[in-house]
Amino acid sequence: MSNLCRICGIEGDHQAYTVKEMMFGTREEFEYFQCSFCGCLQIKQVPEDLGRYYPENYYSFQSYDKLAVSRWRSFRYALRNKRGQWLERMAGAFVRPPKHLAWVRNAGADLDSKILDIGCGNGKTLLKMHLGGFRHCIGLDPFIQETLRYHNGVVIHKQSLQEFRENTQENFDLIMFHHSLEHMGDPQEMINAAAALLTERGRILVRVPVADSYAWEHYRENWLQIDAPRHLYLLTRKSMSILAENSGLKVERIDYDSTKGQFIGSELYQRDIPGNSSSRNKPVFNRSQLRSFKQKTRELNQQEQGDQAVFYFCR
Ligand SMILES: [Zn+2]
Repeated sequence: MSNLCRICGIEGDHQAYTVKEMMFGTREEFEYFQCSFCGCLQIKQVPEDLGRYYPENYYSFQSYDKLAVSRWRSFRYALRNKRGQWLERMAGAFVRPPKHLAWVRNAGADLDSKILDIGCGNGKTLLKMHLGGFRHCIGLDPFIQETLRYHNGVVIHKQSLQEFRENTQENFDLIMFHHSLEHMGDPQEMINAAAALLTERGRILVRVPVADSYAWEHYRENWLQIDAPRHLYLLTRKSMSILAENSGLKVERIDYDSTKGQFIGSELYQRDIPGNSSSRNKPVFNRSQLRSFKQKTRELNQQEQGDQAVFYFCR
């Protein structure tokens, strides 16, 4: 049956897949198809009541109050951002560098940059960045219970990007989507709106699972990152550049940051073990399997075949 790709607009006899809900183990079935032109794997019909697939304890809505007041973290992140690289290397011998260091460097941002995080839940990433010295941090998430105003000045508005845009005159140097774009009904509309809020030399950073990956080719319907029906789109390099170009932007850089979870989760789904199953606590994989998952993950990221990536868009 013919389907219309909602990313590139090509209508065709795209390959269909039936995928089960496995994070909570309801095993409810959803129809997906993969666009034969841009490769985007997408849910055939967005469920009308998507909210019921996000229970209250959904991971991004945990409380981060403790994080916001931790002095230890404050010291760690402040040190690593405000001083020179030699201090960073010294500190790096004891603590793992925070992930945002690479993101902001690659996006050409600095401590004075205005940063907007879209679909950020309770704002964990922004709170960490604020502890790292970034002063202008705003988040948006229409699904939090109420607008959050942290004592340190970080604000997470209970608003959609469209609502926020109508009420602001501000432009941003770094606009981020951390594993949120794949949950949104119309990715092009979101990138268009973000592009309209971008400063002339600003960057949009998009972290998403990608379907032009080993994990999708290997596991298909059991691939962890399909996460039916919450992930509406599993994009590809090609579909991401279509989104960028349609907004007058281009893809400047792609980094692969997949984890060994692509193997652990997908192998469990293949064995019909859901994400919340107590049997996950029993050792399913031995040490050498876990080591090989880790090794394979490193290789896949180097070969640009990992199952998630960081895309940087610029004008
Ligand atoms: Zn397409």
